[in-house]
Amino acid sequence: MISKVRIAATEKDFSHSDICNILKFAQERSQQNVRNHNTIQQRNEIRKKKFSNDRKELVGFDFDKCVVCHLFAKKSACGLCGICSFYVDAGLWEWIIDSEFIPKGIQPESPIIEALVLFAMKKIFEFNEF
Ligand SMILES: [Zn+2]
Repeated sequence: MISKVRIAATEKDFSHSDICNILKFAQERSQQNVRNHNTIQQRNEIRKKKFSNDRKELVGFDFDKCVVCHLFAKKSACGLCGICSFYVDAGLWEWIIDSEFIPKGIQPESPIIEALVLFAMKKIFEFNEF
């Protein structure tokens, strides 16, 4: 087809070296298409594995559990259980089981032991009076 267009436009056909160059160009382009196809296929396989792993994690994740310890039911609006919430509010941040969790705000001063016990009874065991 290219040859017919050239003949119609210039009244001359392609030379032998023109045809060789066109074939070489077509072959290089075809090889590049194969390489691109393989690259895309490998990238899609990696994405597929990552998506599959992310999906498995989400299926196993319990959204009702504490976002820090993943052991107890959420009790606070920020997703913490009673114990983790107690550690945060009492300033006992070094006791939080997940060392990567950083509470927001400034770490409060830990109360004296008597006040700490009363605070623990309220926060963890929800005993307002005893
Ligand atoms: Zn917790």
